[in-house]
Amino acid sequence: MNIKDRYAPSPTGLQHIGGVRTALFNYLFARSSGGRFILRLEDTDRTRFDEAFVQNLYDTFAWLGVHWDEGPDIGGPAAPYVQSGRFDLYKKYAQELADAGRAYCCFCSAEALETLRKEREQAHARETGYDRRCRSLSPEEAADRKAAGESHVIRLKIPLGETTRFRDRLLGDIAWKNGDINPDPVILKSDGFPTYHLANVVDDHLMGITHVLRAQEWLPSTPLHVIMYRSFGWEPPEFCHLPMVMGQDGKKLSKRHGAASIDEFRRQGYLPEALLNYVALLGASYEEGKDIYTLQELSDRFGLDKLSKAPAVFDYKKLEWYNAYYIRMKDNEALARLALPFALEKGLFGAPGTSPDEDRQAAFTKAMPLIKERVSFLREIPEKLQYLFSDPQVPAAAEFIPKKSDLPKAIELLKLGRSLIGPVAGLDDAGAEGFVKQQAENAGAKLGDLMMPLRVALTGSRVSPPLFGSIRILGVKRSLERIDRALAELE
Ligand code: GLU
Repeated sequence: MNIKDRYAPSPTGLQHIGGVRTALFNYLFARSSGGRFILRLEDTDRTRFDEAFVQNLYDTFAWLGVHWDEGPDIGGPAAPYVQSGRFDLYKKYAQELADAGRAYCCFCSAEALETLRKEREQAHARETGYDRRCRSLSPEEAADRKAAGESHVIRLKIPLGETTRFRDRLLGDIAWKNGDINPDPVILKSDGFPTYHLANVVDDHLMGITHVLRAQEWLPSTPLHVIMYRSFGWEPPEFCHLPMVMGQDGKKLSKRHGAASIDEFRRQGYLPEALLNYVALLGASYEEGKDIYTLQELSDRFGLDKLSKAPAVFDYKKLEWYNAYYIRMKDNEALARLALPFALEKGLFGAPGTSPDEDRQAAFTKAMPLIKERVSFLREIPEKLQYLFSDPQVPAAAEFIPKKSDLPKAIELLKLGRSLIGPVAGLDDAGAEGFVKQQAENAGAKLGDLMMPLRVALTGSRVSPPLFGSIRILGVKRSLERIDRALAELE
């Protein structure tokens, strides 16, 4: 079987983790089987539609490196892939169902429906929803009223007294009493716009979708969709409703739990590899003991048998672990390139937005090994490297003083440290460490006590990225200047 699946978002908001997970599983499923993955925009709800959300969708998936084989931006055999460009089709198919007696025109006005709703509410009626009043109109009467220009919708005839059965690839056999389906739902509105259900079913059929992998919240719509497929005489696709994604508190993942939109993750300095890797594990497992997967490795391994029924819990800590891992794995040039926008925004090289000159760019790249192991997010990089690009304030004298020591001793050690800068700048880490250790020993001081005042003078803080690497980047002249400034203050 040639598998064809799709991601069918409604562009009414920013792309979030849940949507990306759905898209990714569809992508992986298609890739794992040599099938095709389609993007379809379900923009029938024009009131909540915004072009900016479409752009956000394109940006998000371009950033993640997840590409579709057919879609609004690249076309394909079933174009257009935007539902607002397909309204004539939906009208035609709704009419076809009505002509076949599987759907019918309903002329009830919004006011009449509202009155009905209130009456039932007052009477505490068990039945809710539409009372199927127009279902019994004769075709002639309906035709006459239509011809007279009376406003109407088209409703699907839900077979009464039956049970709709279908198989979900994850959840198994599902039986849904038709009585529990919203009575004869509208499929075409009075303005000729389709409802989600009609457009979704018609498109999945016309686009040759073989598998519908979607969020579990759509499960209650599926019996209705199955009825519609059968009403058309079409074979329904296979359904697979994906495990829910929850926050740690067991509630559906939302903004309350932390970043949810991909934009926000990007702004905070997550890497696409980390997000993809982590999201691919939300409700699926591939290989015992293996945590790290490239997109290709996931594509090779994915299958519906890898999904689990249990809801997935979104763990920000675990995602952070992945992010730190992928940051560590970057080479210096790549990491510097990724961190640069954050550095510009932070004003690392002057006023915010100021680009580095060649020397500063080189220093920035050379500084990457200093922080690679110390950050979880790109956003953290500029603040960690601030001291390399602007002279830090000289801290209070107390900061320079090693434990159980005093100011004169600290000054003496700092002077000793100063004398070591030249040689240290020309040595690698191991060489510098050996050399400084030896000098400390000769002076009868502990290595830590020698390093501490030096670190405070050079970086403005007792905690900093590795000092020898910092000295190599600062260079001898700037290092000595900083030490001299500190000494002047201390003395
Ligand atoms: N447009 C629906 C959504 O926004 C699609 C549901 C489906 O995949 O069928 O999630």
